[in-house]
Amino acid sequence: MDYNATAPLRPEALEATLLALRSVGNASSIHHLGQDAATRVDTARRQLAELLNCSPGEIIFTSGATEANNLVLRAAYAGEGLLVTTAVEHPAVLEAARALTGNTPEALTVLPVDEDGAIDLELLHTALGSRKVTVVTAMLANNETGVLTDLLPIIKAAHEAGALVHTDATQYVGRLPLDLNEVDVDLLSLSAHKFGGPQGVGALFVRRGTPLAQRPLLIGGGQERGWRAGTLNVAGITGLGAAAQAARLQLKQEAAHTSELRDHLEEKLISSVPGCRINGARVPRLPGVTSVTFPGLPADAVLAAMPEIAASDGSACSAGAPTPSHVLLAMGHSREDADSTIRFSIGYATTEHDIDKAVEATVRAVTHVQSVMATTNWP
Ligand code: PMP
Repeated sequence: MDYNATAPLRPEALEATLLALRSVGNASSIHHLGQDAATRVDTARRQLAELLNCSPGEIIFTSGATEANNLVLRAAYAGEGLLVTTAVEHPAVLEAARALTGNTPEALTVLPVDEDGAIDLELLHTALGSRKVTVVTAMLANNETGVLTDLLPIIKAAHEAGALVHTDATQYVGRLPLDLNEVDVDLLSLSAHKFGGPQGVGALFVRRGTPLAQRPLLIGGGQERGWRAGTLNVAGITGLGAAAQAARLQLKQEAAHTSELRDHLEEKLISSVPGCRINGARVPRLPGVTSVTFPGLPADAVLAAMPEIAASDGSACSAGAPTPSHVLLAMGHSREDADSTIRFSIGYATTEHDIDKAVEATVRAVTHVQSVMATTNWP
């Protein structure tokens, strides 16, 4: 129930990763062992390019989406102009943007969202007209609610104003089809473990011809065409490629299967827990995510009462932090509602039995927390 934190490794990815781990070779060495490793990396680059419909030469392997986001924003915003982003981005974009720009209004515009999580295009136009925008970065799918961003009008407006467009597609890639021939973003970040690859490996897509000077985070041996120095994580990259291939081949069936199960989960929760609300339900969402508010019930208490279910109260990256979800607050929720929200996220290997078990456990946990609160006169 927590695929958005990390998805289980696909069997194809596990097998490919193990094979690569059992081999020896630095992908930069010119002898045959090195060339074997380089071939694995080339294969993975092609497999990922096929999933995205881009060219293998447009891919830079990184340690994940956090690095890809930092790397690309650092290059796209080199201290001049305005960086535009949205209030619901993952901290790997939002905090990186704040750090890069000094978090001043002259350098950074954070666009608000409406109650459905959508950004207001008028405000984007205003930002684009206010001064020279260097880069607009907007996520393709939100990690907490699954809400999809309508990227095409954003790209059009940004390009007309001469700005580059980056999208954090970490939660989208491998879950819904993406054709980079049609979605003409300049820059895109992703992470393997969200679509069944290993953790600690991801990629940055830089469209050929994008006017972007390198400002690498890691300087050294010049790997990845100078974008990212350091010996390549051949096993991780191999696993990423295998996961990308498996996801591409099964994308349509998996998306249909997942959204059917998610709808089933929502229907059951709504009918069994009076008053619960689904966030972002009126707009297009990822197939496998549901963000459910149980008004008046602290999500951490509900989750603690169903320890057999691995779900999340907010995003894993900020779980444990005492601050409420910035995504739900940006969508106009009260702090109390944000603290009463659980994210269930499912994917390719989820079964109907898993859903039934999750519903049963949630209903039991909600009833338990309600009765504890009633007997202890909780405020
Ligand atoms: N962006 C989004 C939207 C995410 O959901 C995540 C992972 N929670 C990241 C970036 C960061 O990915 P990673 O931790 O794999 O670097």
